[in-house]
Amino acid sequence: MARQFFVGGNFKMNPVSKQAKAALAETLNKASLDPATEVVVAPPALYLLSLKDILRKDVKVSAQNCYFKDSGAFTGEISPKQLVDSEIPYVILGHSERRTLFHETSELVATKTRAALDSSLSVILCIGETLQQREADQTAQVCQAQLKAVVEVLKESDWSKIVIAYEPVWAIGTGKVASSAQAQEAHADIRAYLAKAVSPAVADATRIIYGGSVTAANSKELATKPDVDGFLVGGASLKPEFVDIINARQI
Ligand code: PEP
Repeated sequence: MARQFFVGGNFKMNPVSKQAKAALAETLNKASLDPATEVVVAPPALYLLSLKDILRKDVKVSAQNCYFKDSGAFTGEISPKQLVDSEIPYVILGHSERRTLFHETSELVATKTRAALDSSLSVILCIGETLQQREADQTAQVCQAQLKAVVEVLKESDWSKIVIAYEPVWAIGTGKVASSAQAQEAHADIRAYLAKAVSPAVADATRIIYGGSVTAANSKELATKPDVDGFLVGGASLKPEFVDIINARQI
């Protein structure tokens, strides 16, 4: 089954002005983007609606996080229901910065994933190992443990709304990209795990994208790998080269 190539831009806590946000939209609006690629950008929550209003309609927007309750006394949080009401189709969950800086466990990520799906959001679900875990040869084990928590709360039909982002923590924002062989191996392991833990059909259909220091220069080679179905891009999504990453599958 052909999986649609997917490129996400995670702006993190950037940019810091309305002008810079408009410039990012302008770059995408003027660009020639591969129509075969699904493109999603995740600005800070404050800019979700205004960015959506000025962006071309074939580029979707995503939240970077959400809570698992619909409403109530949860200061500082955004609910899946509010995202859906605002016509935001995607949310990133389990990003390593949320896991490490904000102490989100795999169980919390799974609870949020369940809540997001219950509100009919699609989820970009991030997993990945630290450098220490890679050096201890625990990459597959760590990814499986992070996924297992989610597998346990999802039905087979839920997986059509999930994009898995394999993001080795040592490659995020460091300039140290995984080699295409390392990415392919990790993605194939994740797919094999899905086949066993969920079903071969879900393993075949689920997009597994790579994140960690992706640039225009390294994206073309990574995109040739059979189990690399796209990218989640941090730093380079704020630069004009994001367009080349979106078009990485074009010759
Ligand atoms: C990310 O934050 O998801 C990411 C992959 O960042 P960067 O591309 O900057 O490494």
